[in-house]
Amino acid sequence: MKAYISLGANIGDRFSQLEDAVHMLHRLEHIKVTNQSSYYETKPVGVTDQPDFLNAVVEIETDLAPLALLEKTQSIEQELGRVRKKKWGPRTIDLDILLYGDENIELESLIIPHPRMRERGFVMLPLAEIAPELQVADGETAAEAARAFTGDSGIVKAEKPR
Ligand code: ATP
Ligand code: CA
Ligand code: CA
Repeated sequence: MKAYISLGANIGDRFSQLEDAVHMLHRLEHIKVTNQSSYYETKPVGVTDQPDFLNAVVEIETDLAPLALLEKTQSIEQELGRVRKKKWGPRTIDLDILLYGDENIELESLIIPHPRMRERGFVMLPLAEIAPELQVADGETAAEAARAFTGDSGIVKAEKPR
């Protein structure tokens, strides 16, 4: 099954944390990372008095069931030292499952498609970069959903500092 995962970090070494998360995903049995977006530097939305985020989206191929995949992404968050404090507050790493094939899932611990993804430029721009034709809602592709955010000055592609 093809699935899409968004990654975000806004404290610590954000580039390393995102890279480490992608490598950890890829090293897991039953998961292959098949595509990765650029990195995007983004202004926080919602809770705005916190550092800027670094965001990216990856495409994976997996034969794990959705809840098993969630377990893996949560263990990567734990391993990279995420301390869960306040909702939508600063974090060393956040992995959200955006889409899992074309499945609709509504469990207490897992909702797919991710319910807020289409309102978020920091998700839609990187997703549209790697999968423009992907269906993100009835009759809407990632590229179409991302159009609402083109020209958003709070989201810019970022190069890893060297
Ligand atoms: P948001 O979901 O708005 O981006 P968040 O990422 O800050 O907020 P978290 O504190 O990371 O929220 O996650 C809260 C809970 O969301 C997790 O414990 C998880 O069970 C649940 N959850 C529901 N749907 C998903 C999903 N598609 N991907 C990841 N977690 C999910
Ligand atoms: Ca999130
Ligand atoms: Ca999350």
